[in-house]
Amino acid sequence: MPKIIFATGNQDKMKEIRMILGDMGMEILSMKEAGLSLDVEENGTSFEENAMIKAKAVACLARGRSVSAIVLADDSGLEIDYLGGEPGIYSARYMGEHTSYRVKNQNLIDRLAGVPDEQRTARFVCAIAAVLPDGESLLTRGVMEGKIGYAESGENGFGYDPIFILPKYGCTTADLPPDVKNTESHRGKALRAMREKLAGTARAKI
Ligand code: IMP
Repeated sequence: MPKIIFATGNQDKMKEIRMILGDMGMEILSMKEAGLSLDVEENGTSFEENAMIKAKAVACLARGRSVSAIVLADDSGLEIDYLGGEPGIYSARYMGEHTSYRVKNQNLIDRLAGVPDEQRTARFVCAIAAVLPDGESLLTRGVMEGKIGYAESGENGFGYDPIFILPKYGCTTADLPPDVKNTESHRGKALRAMREKLAGTARAKI
């Protein structure tokens, strides 16, 4: 069976990926499941560049081990308009990689103190890169628009979910059941777009 390797060690992402790409008739493996291990420095200047850096590095490693697969990688983050797009591509590293999201979220709320509703616009962005066995590469982007709240709310999700309000539902993405968030999410949209592109181009090449 043709293989997809997703360049992540994050089990939550793997669950979401399996839900969305599961019926493509391809085996979907994490890097660990594919027996690959690599720490890639994300030194690009956009989500797309970082996703492609990861996908290319892992594709190279896979080729070196004679593993034929489509390699996917993602990069995502939160852009807050009032803060000039911060934390953006530095979302995971904002205030330090090991700082808790309770502290990061409170810091962002504090930086928006006194900012009215209409200026609290923000979005989650996800870029997905694919490298096919013949070296061809593909990119997709998914966006979820919302607003930054005034306090944390919700127990689901992770990261910045407790401060990200989805206007359509009037609550944060941490308040939403995971399946609802997945249908709306930046990652879900980028993955479904990649699924379409792969269905069109990749099959013939594996
Ligand atoms: P990476 O894409 O795994 O490098 O990290 C992206 C970072 O952006 C995460 O560590 C979170 O801080 C943030 N992020 C990305 N997607 C989401 C989401 O769906 N909810 C909350 N935070 C997110």
